[in-house]
Parts: sequence; structure tokens; C-alpha cells
Amino acid sequence: MTKAPHVVVVGSGPIGATYAREILEAHPTATVTMLELGPQLTEIPGASVKNIHDDEKRAKARAMSQGPQADEATRAKLGLPYLQEGTLTARQGTHLVDFGGPGSGHAKSFPMASIATNVGGQGAHWTCAVPRPEFSEKIDFISDEDWEQSISRAEVLLRANKTPFKKSPIGAAIRAALTEEFKDISTETVHPYFLPVSAEEQPNGTMIWGGTDFVFGPLIEKGNPLAERFTLKSLTMARKILFEGKKAIGVLMEDAVTGEQSELLADKVVIAADAVRTPQLLWASGVRPKALGHYLTEHPVCFSAIALDGEKLKKYASEEDYVAEKELAKLSPGDPVSGVTRVPFIEPSHPYSAQIMYVTKPPFPLPDDSPLKDHKYGFAMAGWGGRKFPRYEDAVTFDDNELDYRGFPNMTIEYELTEREIKEMEDVKVFMHRAADALGAFVPGMGMPRLMAPGTSLHYMGTHRIGPVDDGTSVCDDTSKVWGYENLFTGGNGTIPTANCVNPTLTSVAIAVRGAHKLVSELND
Ligand SMILES: Cc1cc2nc3c(=O)[nH]c(=O)nc-3n(C[C@H](O)[C@H](O)[C@H](O)COP(=O)(O)OP(=O)(O)OC[C@H]3O[C@@H](n4cnc5c(N)ncnc54)[C@H](O)[C@@H]3O)c2cc1C
Repeated sequence: MTKAPHVVVVGSGPIGATYAREILEAHPTATVTMLELGPQLTEIPGASVKNIHDDEKRAKARAMSQGPQADEATRAKLGLPYLQEGTLTARQGTHLVDFGGPGSGHAKSFPMASIATNVGGQGAHWTCAVPRPEFSEKIDFISDEDWEQSISRAEVLLRANKTPFKKSPIGAAIRAALTEEFKDISTETVHPYFLPVSAEEQPNGTMIWGGTDFVFGPLIEKGNPLAERFTLKSLTMARKILFEGKKAIGVLMEDAVTGEQSELLADKVVIAADAVRTPQLLWASGVRPKALGHYLTEHPVCFSAIALDGEKLKKYASEEDYVAEKELAKLSPGDPVSGVTRVPFIEPSHPYSAQIMYVTKPPFPLPDDSPLKDHKYGFAMAGWGGRKFPRYEDAVTFDDNELDYRGFPNMTIEYELTEREIKEMEDVKVFMHRAADALGAFVPGMGMPRLMAPGTSLHYMGTHRIGPVDDGTSVCDDTSKVWGYENLFTGGNGTIPTANCVNPTLTSVAIAVRGAHKLVSELND
């Protein structure tokens, strides 16, 4: 009898989970071991912390994910250095690459670069927006038919809800007003619409937000036969990929608490450890193609907050609707969003992706004397994401002579917007003003349109990009297999090769679906 094949997946975010699930569902006997450096936050592995309604418990779960910027107890347990006072603060649940303490990475030109270290990865903290890429955002060397299959599967894995918050009257009013306002830039099929999200809407109109647990699905269901072939090891780091020539034979794993190391052998190895730590682990393991870490892109973000004006929206919403909306919001104290709209990337008239989230309470602290403190019509958080065209010089690079706080070759991120990109992010303000005029008015101060510091998007792409040919401008082939290696795959936003504005996770899951199917077909050979 032949031995059941064994696959090691490094990283427990949505992409590692996609590989694990697709492999186990498609192969009758394969086993998968997943290594995750961070701790498990919730009873259900990888669940969204937004579903924790107790403020203290939610804050604790987020703090546990913050690596060197975690709470003191978690850092002490993992022997991590202390955060330097006075450094920038990352989004809750994440930690900065350039956190400023001993062994910190360097990211002066990309200061908000942030990552998460926990079971479920950033997928336990994300906003859950899962729109599809459109026009030139799509990868031109993958056929439409193939892409349609992969992205449809990705929507199933993430349980994409294409008409979320159907019961939100103000969400509907915002959508109607923006559809009217942006008629001139829309096409028949691409126009302002619901923002699809990974979430399950409950009968009372609240959401169970999707975390990586959605993708794990049967793998974390007690008694499910697939769960018996899946092992998730938290607080376990992949220190190095092990090779025999160009064949990966497993990984050197390390207990994150004790530092104890052991070899874990495998027939295939998948690295899905985010867009900066995947190239770092490849580099540390001697896999150093020219494009590794290069062609870094993200979505430059211009943020604004709009105070809704009941008078301007009276065609679409009544006074009673605002009261009903506040009641709906009270049901989800852990997450104040109750209506979501998107103005999509429309080429060439609107080269941006806008996300408009309705909240009943001010999205940031307002001065005590602000007339908007108890604003009865609520607010729209309106963020416009732009595109960054891939260039070799935007990169995360690694230094063998300087180790980071985990003992890896330390990383430096170099990144710069070009004139074209700066102009696009200046031009975006026209659309932002139009949206504000249609819905109400910008909240003075923090709510005025402002270009956020590089790294703010949390969508880092291109650093281990896929490509159609091995010409030095990509790290992996179109099935995410590292060029020149027999059985080493990567996954994550780093595989995305295009300049795009769309939130990347759905696209990365679709790319990973293709990778997993290729991997399984090789196991079958
Ligand atoms: C606040 C927030 C909001 C977001 N909103 C959206 C959104 O609305 N839509 C969207 O598309 N995207 C969003 N994102 C981004 C989204 O979460 C990521 O695209 C997604 O999680 C990427 O999945 P991944 O599996 O590639 O990586 P991650 O989720 O980052 O997981 C990688 C995991 O690998 C682990 N790891 C790293 N190195 C090692 C090692 N050596 N050994 C073992 N484990 C290791 C890490 O600890 C981590 O848990 C958001 C992110 C955040 C933080």
C-alpha cells in the first residue's frame, strides 16, 4: 500500500486555509499539517474577532495578535521584545513591521506596514470586503473560463454575501444616492452597488462576520472525516524550508514558546505567511529569485468621513428610517457598521475602488462642543483606494547580516508613489467631494479627504507574484509554484501581479484555489 501524501502549509490565514481545504477535499488520503506562529484567539480557530461583542474580550483577542506590539502577558510568554514608546500605532489586531523596538524591521517609506500573528492571520481582523476584480485588475494570463471557476469557488469558501445588510434602510439610501450621482461614470453592469462581504446575515439583520474559520469549514468541524486528516499547530514557526536539490522535503519547525526545533517532512510545501514574511522565509531558506520581495504594490488610500444630511437624502430615507437604523446597530455593539456600499473600479472613468460604510455613531472622537456629537443621521466612512503600478524598485529586501526580533534576515521596505500615482490620488478628491455633496458634508477636521500614509491599506501585493513565463519578473508560475522548484508553492496577496484597486483577499483565494488544484494533480500523478 502506498503511503498517504503529506503537505505542510505555513500560515493559517485565509490563504493557507484555502490550500488546506482544497487539498483535503480533492484528495482522498492526503494529510495536511498547518504551522502558525501566533496564538489561537477564539474557541473556533480563526473566527473573526468582530463577532466578539464583549469589548474587553475583543480587545484582548486583538492584543494577542500583535506580535512585538502584543499585550505584555503575550509578549512575556513568547519572549518578545517590548514596544518602543512613541512609535506609530498599528490597526488593532496588527503590528507594525517598523515597530521601533529591538529587532524591528525598517520601513520609513512604508511606515504603516502592518501584519498579524495569530491563528486565522489577518483574516481574524479584516473588514471582510470581497469584491471581484474588474477590467485590467484581472490577471490577463489566466483564461476567463478558468478565472470564473476559481473565483466562484473563492466566493463559496469565503461565503461571499453579495447583498449584505439588506435590512439597512440608510445603507439602501446611500446606495440610491450614489447610483444617481455616479451615473456618468458607470456602465450597465458596473456601478455603485452593495459591497460584497464575507458574512452570514442573521434573520434579525445582524452579521456573523467571516473569519478564516469560514474557509476552514469542515476541517475544524468535530467528527468530520476531513478534520481527521488536518492538524493545526499554533505557536509553531517555520524557521526554514528543507530541500534536497530543488525538491522541498519539509520544514524546520520551531516551538514559539520553548524554541525547540524539529524537522517536519512533507511531499509538498506551501508558504502562505503574508506578503512580507513569505518572501522572508523563502530568502532565509536560500530561495532567492530576482523578483523575490520586489514589485511591491498596495492601494494608496484617501479617507474621509461624511455626516449624512437627512434633507439631502429625504427622497430615499424618512426620519423613521434613521431611528430604525439605530436600533439595528444596537444589536451589534462589537461592530458599528450597518450598511455597506461600493463604487467599483470602472475603467477608464473611475480608476478607484471606494468603500462606503454607514455607522450611526461618529467614526472617531469629536470635540465636546462639536454639533455632530449626537448627529441623528449618522455617518458614512468613505475610503477611496487607488492603484500602484508594479515597479522593481518598490520592494521588501532582506539582510543576512542583521537579524530581526525572531532571528530572520531583517527586512527593509522601500516604496515610492510615482507622479502618475500621486496625480491619480489627487484627482480622486473630485469623486470624494461629489459623494460628500450627494450624501451630506464632510466632518470637519479628521473627516476631510486625506491621503493616508503608505502601508495603511493592509493590502500588500506583488512580492512573490505569479507570472506566465520565468523571465525574472515573477517568483511563481501561474499556478503559484515557485519557478525552478519541484514542489514548493506560495500563496497570499504577494502572488497578485496586477495594478489594481480591489480588496485583494478574494483574488488571492482564487489564485490559491488554482494552486491547490495543481498541487493535488501532482499528488495524483
Ligand atoms: C483590519 C484589516 C482589514 C482588512 N480588510 C480587508 C478587506 O475588507 N478585504 C480584503 O480583501 N482584505 C482585507 N484585509 C486583508 C486580509 O485580511 C488579507 O488579505 C488576508 O488575511 C491575507 O491572507 P493570508 O492568508 O495571505 O495572510 P495572513 O492572513 O496575514 O496570514 C498569514 C499568517 O502566517 C503566519 N506566519 C508568518 N510567518 C510564519 C512562520 N514563519 N511560521 C508560521 N506561521 C507564520 C502569520 O502569523 C499569519 O497568521 C484586511 C486586513 C486587516 C488587518
